[in-house]
Amino acid sequence: MSDNDFDSNAELDASQIDDRRGSDSSGSGGFGGGGGGFTIPGGGRTVGGSIVGLIVLVVVGALFGTGTIDLSTLSGGGASGTSSGDNRALAQKCAASNPQRFTELDCRNGFYVNDIQQFWNRELPTTFGVRYKVTKAVFFSRSTNTGCGQATSDVGPFYCPADELVYIDLSFYAELSSRFGAPGQFAQAYVLAHEFGHHIQNLTGTERRVRQLQQQNPSKKNVYSVALELQADCYAGVWAKNAGGGPVATVDDKDIQEALQAAAAVGDDRIQQAAGAGVNQETWTHGSAKSRQQWFFTGYTTGDPTKCDTLSATR
Ligand SMILES: [Zn+2]
Repeated sequence: MSDNDFDSNAELDASQIDDRRGSDSSGSGGFGGGGGGFTIPGGGRTVGGSIVGLIVLVVVGALFGTGTIDLSTLSGGGASGTSSGDNRALAQKCAASNPQRFTELDCRNGFYVNDIQQFWNRELPTTFGVRYKVTKAVFFSRSTNTGCGQATSDVGPFYCPADELVYIDLSFYAELSSRFGAPGQFAQAYVLAHEFGHHIQNLTGTERRVRQLQQQNPSKKNVYSVALELQADCYAGVWAKNAGGGPVATVDDKDIQEALQAAAAVGDDRIQQAAGAGVNQETWTHGSAKSRQQWFFTGYTTGDPTKCDTLSATR
C-alpha cells in the first residue's frame, strides 16, 4: 500500500492506541492464553507464538502439544497490573504536521486500527443489531501484562477476551515478512483486522457460544477453534472490502494480494511445515493456508459479515 492509499488529511485517533512500548516490564510467568489467531512457532520456545489471535484455549497448547490452556486461567487472570501507556508521543508523531507519518510503521498501524473500528462501529448495529464497543490496540515491546496473563512477543499478535484489547508487538511484522514470506503493508492491515474480528466475535457472543460447544464436545474442540479463526479471517476481508471511508482511502489489488499471502503464511499447515514438525490436521487450530485465504476472500468479495458463517460450514 503506498502513502496515497491513506487520506492525506486523516487525523489519528490516538485514544484507540495504548502505547506501552518502552514502558513494559519484562515480568516473569507464562502467558495464560489470551488471544488466538495467527500462530507462529517462536524461536526455541516450547510454546511457539500465536500471532494474530484469539481463541485462546486451544491455540498454543494444542498446536504444540503442550497441553490445553484452561479457560479459567484466561478469564480469571484479571486485568490487574495492566498499565496503560502514554499515547501522546504517538499522537504528535502521527499528526498531519508530519509529512512522513504514513511511512511510519506505528502511525500506519494506528490508522488501520481507526479505520477498522470506524467500519465496525457502522456495520455491527446494522448487520447484527449489536452495538459496537470501541476498544484499543496495545502496542508493546517484549512483554506486557494483559487480562489473559503476562504475554511476551513470542505469542504474536492476539486478542484477549477478558480485557477486550488487541495486543501487538509491531516487530512481529518483520518476522511475518522474513520468516513467513508475507511482506507488504497490507499484510499488517490483515493481521489487525483479524484481531478485531475476534473482538466482533466477543461482542456478538459467538465466541462464548463456541466455547460452550467446545466444552460440550471436546473431540471437536479444534474444529471449532478453526471455525472461529476462519471467521475472523472472513471479517478481515469484509473490512478490506469496505475500507475507504476512513483514514484508509483506497484498497487495491496489490493490497489484497498481500493480505492473501499473509493469510496463507499463517495457515496451520505452513506453520507446521516451517516448524519441521510434520503436518497433522487434527491439531490445527486456525485452518489451512488455503482455507484461510478462501475465507478472507469470501469476506472481501461479498463485503457482508453474514456470509462469514464458518460454523455451519464446518458441520
Ligand atoms: Zn485469530
